[in-house]
Amino acid sequence: MSKKALYPGSFDPITYGHLDIIKRASEIFDELTIAIVDNPDKSPLFSIEERKELIMNVIKADNVRIDSFKGLLVQYATDNAFQTIIRGLRAVSDFDYEFQMSLTNRQLGKNIDTIFFMTDEKYSYLSSSIVKQVCRYGGDISSFVPEEVSLSLKEKLK
Ligand code: ADP
Repeated sequence: MSKKALYPGSFDPITYGHLDIIKRASEIFDELTIAIVDNPDKSPLFSIEERKELIMNVIKADNVRIDSFKGLLVQYATDNAFQTIIRGLRAVSDFDYEFQMSLTNRQLGKNIDTIFFMTDEKYSYLSSSIVKQVCRYGGDISSFVPEEVSLSLKEKLK
């Protein structure tokens, strides 16, 4: 049976930190679905379609799909027969929230497990919000995001 996993997140926008997790997870699972959370409450900079396109342009692996969802992650996972959720951990500060989410998701969807990938130390400080902040003030973001993402960010924040 082929093993598939779900990598949910805001990806607003995708960074080298996300790409590292995607590469590692897609080497372990037969199929990886990146699921962009459609949550307007977070006031995202990029629309769902823009985020999808950016991800599509920078993904190399051919066993990676991109989708989006609204509402409960567990519902999306159940509806699409996913039993494994992938999340990344950057620092102890991520742990409390991720621990709580993972236990809640397991309570809501009994067969659903979350697997955590430790960040690559090169990216342990990296987040989409930091990248947006640096870009907004004209800093060099070339070591944080691929060229395509960098160009779109600069365009958006002009
Ligand atoms: P969310 O709003 O759901 O946290 P993000 O796009 O910020 O969405 O992150 C999605 C997932 O990717 C989260 O599990 C987050 O911890 C992980 N992640 C983000 N940046 C990095 C990074 N630099 N290294 C490892 N994991 C990361």
